[in-house]
Amino acid sequence: KLFNEVQELKGNIRVYCRVRPFLSGQDKMSTTIDYMGENGELLISNPFKQGKDGHRMFKFNKVFSPFASQAEVFSDIQPLIRSVLDGFNVCIFAYGQTGSGKTYTMSGPSASKQDWGVNYRALNDLFDISLSRRNAFSYEVGVQMVEIYNEQVHASLHSVKSTSDVLDLMEIGQANRAVGSTALNERSSRSHSILTVHVRGLDLKNGSTSRGCLHLIDLAGSERVEKSEVTGDRLKEAQYINKSLSALGDVIFALSQKSAHVPYRNSKLTQVLQSSLGGQAKTLMFVQINPDVESYSETISTLKFAERVS
Ligand code: ADP
Ligand code: MG
Repeated sequence: KLFNEVQELKGNIRVYCRVRPFLSGQDKMSTTIDYMGENGELLISNPFKQGKDGHRMFKFNKVFSPFASQAEVFSDIQPLIRSVLDGFNVCIFAYGQTGSGKTYTMSGPSASKQDWGVNYRALNDLFDISLSRRNAFSYEVGVQMVEIYNEQVHASLHSVKSTSDVLDLMEIGQANRAVGSTALNERSSRSHSILTVHVRGLDLKNGSTSRGCLHLIDLAGSERVEKSEVTGDRLKEAQYINKSLSALGDVIFALSQKSAHVPYRNSKLTQVLQSSLGGQAKTLMFVQINPDVESYSETISTLKFAERVS
């Protein structure tokens, strides 16, 4: 409800920035993050420029510091996730360079409960709520996993009854991804992976039905690769990623501007999500950044992308 009211003016798009902590071995003294405000302000300093011109301020709906826990992040988006039970379509994206914490936010670093990312927590919460409403509503939940790699869509559909079904499924997904070589493992950072939860509700009192859809999207790494550095397959992959991320940016930008024309057709990603982007649907983007100076230029380009769609 609150989300609706707040977002009405901005085309139902909300942008959250999450800053990854330093990893062990990284020099904690050399950071680009100057300031994180309570109202979504983020001040970035340029390690190559001193003085006034060396700083840039961004403003998002919220900034999560490196100390924010998985539970904290989730509690903020819980109302949005629950709106799916009332028939809303919701997309939650994680955007950022490889290593910035997209998978940490969406899936979490391990299967233990306090580590759970948005996807397990969301499913768990949807099952909990549907159980608590079982005298008044009956809900059917289906889960689909989609991978988009080089503009090709690979999908699988499952029907699930409980969180443990989902945990099992995702473990299978992870295992499949990790099989054998690092090459295949690395592929996950060059593909978009989408977990879609379909919910069909039946109001037991009056027989009315609703359909809502939650898409949880771990995007391919947004880092730009130098054309001179890569060739062949790697270059092709990079071009596909570029194309689809900019198509996504264009779609969200068009929606935020309330333009009459929204260019969904320019990538597989935006085609797959078309019915859940725009209209009554709600969009949330986690913009993930690294704190270190080495990541400065990627951080700025990530934040510029986010600024354009927010
Ligand atoms: P990406 O999916 O964007 O490539 P990962 O989610 O794999 O990045 O994160 C890269 C590394 O940083 C992993 O070792 C991950 O556990 C760690 N990491 C990311 N975000 C956090 C966080 N908020 N707290 C602790 N560790 C994190
Ligand atoms: Mg990842």
